[in-house]
Amino acid sequence: MINENFLKLSGAYLFSEIAQKVKAYKAEAPRADIISLGIGDVTQPLCPAVIEALHKATDEMAVAASFRGYGPERGYDFLREAIVEHDFRARGIDIDADEVFVSDGAKSDTGNFQELLSKDVRIAVTDPVYPVYVDSNMMAGREIVYLPCTAENGFVPQAPLLSPQGGKNTSPLGENGKGLVIYLCYPNNPTGTTLTREQLKVWVDYALNNNALIFYDAAYEAYIQSEDVPHSIYEIPGAKECAVEFHSYSKTAGFTGIRCGYTVVPKGVKSERVKSEKSGLLETISLNSLWNRRQSTKFNGTSYLSQRAAEAIYTPEGKTQVKATIAYYMENARLMREVLTDMGFTVYGGVDAPYLWVRTPNGMKSWEFFDWMLRSAHVVCTPGVGFGSAGEGYVRLTAFGTHENTKEALRRVNDKL
Ligand code: PLP
Repeated sequence: MINENFLKLSGAYLFSEIAQKVKAYKAEAPRADIISLGIGDVTQPLCPAVIEALHKATDEMAVAASFRGYGPERGYDFLREAIVEHDFRARGIDIDADEVFVSDGAKSDTGNFQELLSKDVRIAVTDPVYPVYVDSNMMAGREIVYLPCTAENGFVPQAPLLSPQGGKNTSPLGENGKGLVIYLCYPNNPTGTTLTREQLKVWVDYALNNNALIFYDAAYEAYIQSEDVPHSIYEIPGAKECAVEFHSYSKTAGFTGIRCGYTVVPKGVKSERVKSEKSGLLETISLNSLWNRRQSTKFNGTSYLSQRAAEAIYTPEGKTQVKATIAYYMENARLMREVLTDMGFTVYGGVDAPYLWVRTPNGMKSWEFFDWMLRSAHVVCTPGVGFGSAGEGYVRLTAFGTHENTKEALRRVNDKL
């Protein structure tokens, strides 16, 4: 018998559905020159520091004395030390290298981490949301609660909605006593919005007061430009007791094909189990040791080459080169915001994130506007409704195109409007 939960998932993964539609249109109009501002894949090559590290690591693999086989289960020390130093200590955050788990990217980890928790734990996600959080929890048969993020609330999920009086959770979310996990992703995919330190503190305090966990996806952290936007949830006091944080080099340094990321599981983040059914006595368990157990059973590490490549991002040359590529994409974001706003569109995001969240014109539905963009302008966007019902009436555009394609896409939309 199959896991019936898979049948409850929506028909296809959003980007597969888009790819099918584009393919069908290409069959209809083979000469159409289609520009994709849809799926969030990058277009710029790896930076020279990364390429050099990859060549060097490859040469090491060719010699018995420096050949590497299976690596340490949490990742090589050289990379975990670099992460701790540059991503955390440099920001005044004290994270131990043993709290860092190198992975093959944030999709696997954000999808897999829920395995550590009981099926009865409730899951809160923003709507719209990166679909992986929803689908992975649905596969496990969990109940999901949606926190609407709309123009009215500035695309910021409202913690007080869960617990109007503050303090202990009185909402249906906490009532079954089995716990609550809140997934937050900032800078946000898909809306491109961010939380200030004050806004994120509301959630950390909420989690601490309500015995909830936060799974914080920082995949787009490198795109933050504004001073008051935190790069890590651990900038907020108390977060090391309630939050797990996911990082990815995919968008930071063009690693979508190389594959590398990491997850921080502070030793202070604990979950509970009933130790004695009779007395109801609870025992706390460290998620750090559980995740280590899980990874050492089911994951055999990120390749040595990928980890050496990731290490190179933290060298002075690597940092400068990666920053230049991010600036390249953020120039696209700036231009798209400016030109689309001039055309009369209402545009959110694109300031501290490589995504723009664009209101469709004349009340068009997301998929209707997607079709119009594809057929009239030969530009692919992502329908907002694919990220959740609150995304209806929006599309997401990415800044990951080349300058030339981005300008051309804007020109075509303007011409066809
Ligand atoms: N998290 C978010 C919010 C994303 O948008 C993405 C990729 O688009 C990922 C995680 C996946 O990143 P990775 O390539 O590291 O698996």
